[in-house]
Amino acid sequence: MARYIFVTGGVVSSLGKGLSSASLAYLLKSQGYKVRLRKMDPYLNVDPGTMSPFQHGEVFVTDDGAETDLDLGHYERFTNISSKQSDNITTGRIYSDVIKKERKGGYLGKTVQVIPHITNRIKEFIKKDITNEDFVICEIGGTVGDIESLPFVEAIRQFSNEHGKSKTLFIHLTFVPFLKSSDEIKTKPTQHSVKELRSIGIQPDIIICRSQQSIPLDQRKKISLFCNVPIDNVIETVDVRTIYEAPISFYNQKLDKQVLKFFKLKPKKRPNLSPWKKITKVVLNTKKSINIAIIGKYVNLKDAYKSLDEALVHGGIANNVKINLVRIESDNLKNNEIKLKLKNVSGLLIPGGFGKRGTEGKISAIKYARENKIPFLGICFGMQMAIVEFARNKLKIKKAGSTELDRNCYPVIGLINEWDKDGKIIKGTDQDLGGTMRLGLYEAKLRNNSAINRIYKSNFIKERHRHRYEVNNKLKDQFENKGLIFSGMSPDNKLPEIIELQDHPWFIGVQFHPEFKSRPLAPHPLFSSFIKASKNHK
Ligand code: GLN
Repeated sequence: MARYIFVTGGVVSSLGKGLSSASLAYLLKSQGYKVRLRKMDPYLNVDPGTMSPFQHGEVFVTDDGAETDLDLGHYERFTNISSKQSDNITTGRIYSDVIKKERKGGYLGKTVQVIPHITNRIKEFIKKDITNEDFVICEIGGTVGDIESLPFVEAIRQFSNEHGKSKTLFIHLTFVPFLKSSDEIKTKPTQHSVKELRSIGIQPDIIICRSQQSIPLDQRKKISLFCNVPIDNVIETVDVRTIYEAPISFYNQKLDKQVLKFFKLKPKKRPNLSPWKKITKVVLNTKKSINIAIIGKYVNLKDAYKSLDEALVHGGIANNVKINLVRIESDNLKNNEIKLKLKNVSGLLIPGGFGKRGTEGKISAIKYARENKIPFLGICFGMQMAIVEFARNKLKIKKAGSTELDRNCYPVIGLINEWDKDGKIIKGTDQDLGGTMRLGLYEAKLRNNSAINRIYKSNFIKERHRHRYEVNNKLKDQFENKGLIFSGMSPDNKLPEIIELQDHPWFIGVQFHPEFKSRPLAPHPLFSSFIKASKNHK
C-alpha cells in the first residue's frame, strides 16, 4: 500500500501549502520514489470550472480534461508528473455523488449522514486510482477550524486510524509571525492552530513553520514542547527569493529526510537539486528585461493567469531575460490609447477568455501588433480574436465575429454546427461535470516548414484545450490567400488549431493552452520562441 502524507494549513490561508507539497514531492521523486499529488477543496462547486477567476484564480486543465484547482499546476510544474481527473475533489463533488447514490436507493433505506457516508466517499477518493505509488501527498484546502474543511479532516483522521501510523503522516503548515514592536517571533498562533487540529483528533507529525525570518532554536523548542512534535520535525520555511528556490530550501531544512525517517525508509538515490540551483541563479542574476503586454479581463488579479505568468517566466529563463509583464485591463481599453500603451512593449499576448466585455480593445491591439510587426501570441480566445481582426480588416468581412459575442455576426468563430451543418460539437470528457467544452489533450498535425513546425521540431503535437467555439474552417482558403495560414489542424483536417501570419516576424495563434504544459525545468517551446522573438524585437 502507498504511504499517505496529509497536508493541512493553519493560522492563515495562502501560506504555500501547494508549493510545500510540490517541493516535497519533487524531493521524494528525485530520491527514486513514485509520487502522486492530490488536492481536496472544501467548496461546494462540483469543480472550479464554473468559478470566475475573480473568485478562485485560474482554472487549471489536466491531460484527461479535468478543470481543477490551480495548485495542480504547481504540482505539475515542480514534479513533471501529469495530474489526472482523480487528483482533485471538492465538497460539491462528494455531496453530489452521495446524493446521486441516495436517489438511486443505494443506501438501502439508511439515514444518509456526514459521518459515515460523506467521510467514506472522501476516503474512497483518497485511495482511488492509486496503483504502485510509494507516496500520495494529499493537500487539504482551506484552514483548519473552517466549518467547510471539517469532513475532510475527519476523513483523514479515520483513514489514519484504519491504515495505521506506518502508512500515514500528518504535516501541518502554520504561520510564525515576527512582531516588530517587541522584536519577537511569536509561536502562540501555531500552538493554537495545533490545538484546533488536536481537538478534531489529529496530532501532527511534522510542523512546517512559515516565517519571514529564521526561527531561533529556543522558539523551535517551544513549538516542539507545546505541540508535542520532535524538535527535528519542526521545520522552518523562510520566504524564498524565488519560488524555484523552495525545493532547495526544504531540502536544507531536511523535510524530505524527516519524512523518509518517519516511514523508516532510505533514499534510493541522491536528490538532484542542481537544476533548481541553476534556474534560481538565472532568475536572480538576469539583468536584461523586456516588456511583454498581456491584455485581459483579469490581469490585475494575482492568480488569474497563473500558468501563463509562469510559462512566460520559463520562456525568459530559456532566453536569459527577465519578463516585465505590462498588464493591460481590456475593459476600458480605448482604440486611441493602444499606440501609447504598446509603445515600449516587445511582445503582445492575448490570453484565453470568455464573453464580450473588452473584446473590441483586444481586436484593435492585435491589429496594431500585426501592422507594426510586434511579436504576437494569441491563446485560445486570443487566437479567435486574431481571426476576427484579420477577417474584418484583410478579408473585408465587416460583420465578422464570434457567435459567443454576437449571435448575428458573420461566424468566423462559432460552435461547429453553426458553420458546418454536419459538424458535431466535441464535448468535455465528463458530461455530468457540466463539461460542455472541448477539454483536455487533443492532437494537432503541423504543416511542414511552417514556423510552428520549426518551433516544436515535430509534425504532431498534443496540447490541452478548454473552449466551446472553433475557427470556421470553411474560410481557410480566403485566409491563406491573404497570408494567414492554418499551420496546425486537427488530425481529421476539420478544426484549425494553429494560425500564423507569413509576412510578420512572429505572429502565432493557438486554439489550445500551451501554458499548462510549460515547466521551469523544461520551458515550453512556444513560449521560449515567443520570448526570443520579443527579445530580438527591441
Ligand atoms: N470563450 C472561448 C471559447 O469558449 C475561448 C475560451 C478560452 O479562451 N479558453 O471558445
